Amino acid sequence: MSKRTAVITGASAGIGAATARALAKAGFDVVLGARRLDRLQPVADELAGTAHVLDVTDPGSVASFADQIPACHVLVNNAGGARGLERVEEADEEHWRWMWEANVLGTLRTTKALLPKLRASGDGHVVTVTSIAGYQVYDGGAGYTSAKHAQSALHRTLRSEHLGEPIRFTEIVPGLVETEFSVNRFGGDAERAKNVYRGLQPLTAEDVAEVIAFAATRPAHVNLDQIVLKPRAQYDAVRSHRE
Ligand code: NAP
Repeated sequence: MSKRTAVITGASAGIGAATARALAKAGFDVVLGARRLDRLQPVADELAGTAHVLDVTDPGSVASFADQIPACHVLVNNAGGARGLERVEEADEEHWRWMWEANVLGTLRTTKALLPKLRASGDGHVVTVTSIAGYQVYDGGAGYTSAKHAQSALHRTLRSEHLGEPIRFTEIVPGLVETEFSVNRFGGDAERAKNVYRGLQPLTAEDVAEVIAFAATRPAHVNLDQIVLKPRAQYDAVRSHRE
C-alpha cells in the first residue's frame, strides 16, 4: 500500500516542524509549507519529504501550493501566530489584519483548496491548531483571541458541514508552548518573549506534535474532535502557577 500524505502548514519552525517530524515517524509522506524556504527545506530533507513555499495570507500562493500536491490524506492547519499585545484602545490595525489573515483566512483558504483531495483520499483528516485563546479572552489579546475564536468556529463548522463524508476534523487547543511564537509576537524582543514562560515549564513543540500524530493515527472511524493540552502549571489563559 502506498504511504498516506500529510500536509503541514507553518512547518519551518515550532509546532509545525515538530508535527512534520512526528507524522513522518508515524509513516506519512510529508509535504511542508511555509514562507522561509531556507528554514523549511532542511526539515523536509531530513524527513525525505517535500517543501513548497507557502504564504497562507496570499490566495495565489495557497492555490499554487495546493496544485503542487498530488494527494492529501491529512492537512494540519498550523500556520499562524500573534502580533502585539495592545489594548483595544491602542489597537494596531496592521497587527489585527495579519492575525486575521494568517490564522482565519489562511485556514479557510488552505482547507478549501485541499478539501477535494482530502475527500478523494477516501480517508481524509483536517487537524487545526487553534489555542486556548480561541475559548477565552485576555487584556491586550483581542486581536489574537478574536482571530483564534474565529478560526475555531470555522473548524467546528467544517466538522458539521462534512458529516457523512470520509473526512475527520480534529481541533488541537494548546496553552503555553515555548516556540518562536512570543518572539514573533513581540517583534523580535527575546527578553520580553522569555518572560511569557518565566517560572513554569511550558509545553514543547514536540509535546503538541505527539498529540497531533496520535489523533492522525487512530482508526478511520475514530474522530478526536477537540484536544486541549496545557502545561501542568497553567490553569487557563490568565492564571498560571509560577515559581
Ligand atoms: P512559531 O514558532 O512562530 O511558528 C509559526 C510557523 O507558522 C512558522 O513555521 C512560520 O513559518 C509559519 N507561518 C507564519 N505565517 C505564515 C504564513 N503567512 N504562511 C505560511 N506559514 C506561516 O509558532 P508556533 O508556536 O509553532 O505556532 C504554531 C501555531 O500554534 C499557530 O497557529 C499558533 O497560533 C498556535 N499556538 C501556539 C501556542 C504557543 O504558545 N506557542 C499556543 C497555542 C496555539 P514562516 O515564517 O517560514 O512562514
